[in-house]
Amino acid sequence: MALLELKHISRSFPHAKGILPVIADLSFTVEEGEFVAVVGPSGCGKSTMLRMINGLMEPTSGQVLYKGRQIDGINLECALVFQSFALMPWLSVKANVELGLEARGLAPAEREKRASVYIDKVGLDGFEEAYPRELSGGMKQRVGLARALAVEPQLLLMDEPFSSLDALTAITLREELLDLWQDKSMPVHNIIMVTHIIEEAVELADRILVLSSSPGRLVADLKVELPRPRDRRQEGFNALTDKVFSLIEERA
Ligand code: ADP
Ligand code: MG
Repeated sequence: MALLELKHISRSFPHAKGILPVIADLSFTVEEGEFVAVVGPSGCGKSTMLRMINGLMEPTSGQVLYKGRQIDGINLECALVFQSFALMPWLSVKANVELGLEARGLAPAEREKRASVYIDKVGLDGFEEAYPRELSGGMKQRVGLARALAVEPQLLLMDEPFSSLDALTAITLREELLDLWQDKSMPVHNIIMVTHIIEEAVELADRILVLSSSPGRLVADLKVELPRPRDRRQEGFNALTDKVFSLIEERA
């Protein structure tokens, strides 16, 4: 059985001139263990799609199935990482990481233990008591990642997680994310990452879904066969990057 199945999802929003269709008849499946990247022009409904996958928003029509069952409310087996980090400035690193755990009913001692494990996993050991304002962008996103991993989700959803970081920081964090995903001791086995950085999708993902805009539709579902670790000097890397670019341009 597929881990996740989107069946003919459409979503529209009320708009000044009537109804704005944002996503139209979007269908795809994600198999157990996959790392899927989603690319497409700005405004094509990528963030909206992630919200429907974790149950924050309902589709106007169609179904989202998780392990064969239609999701009803927030899917607790998902966690979301945001481009903007979405940290609480008045809370320490540790308290930020513990945020999602309280909502899931973990006792304080267990919350503390979990937070400390995942703060270590993302390389922030020693920064437990620091506040977001004291951290660089890359460190803030490490906190965002630790907070998401701490709930031990099976499916990690990432919304342009490295887009606001400088290039070198983003390179490091991508490598670390791959290591975490490939680490068998980690509960997270699946990632869906929205990105507008095509090279990032080619470097990381098993599959790349290409969406068109207005409304968002699936225009391609490409398997990335390149062996890991990948880089742009590798044979086939640039060809695939160009292919994804041209698919987006054709449809924009
Ligand atoms: P992307 O992440 O691909 O850039 P979004 O999913 O954020 O796109 O948004 C797609 C479109 O849907 C945009 O035009 C946006 O204004 C609209 N939209 C998203 N959420 C809402 C909402 N809650 N109410 C009204 N319009 C929305
Ligand atoms: Mg978005």
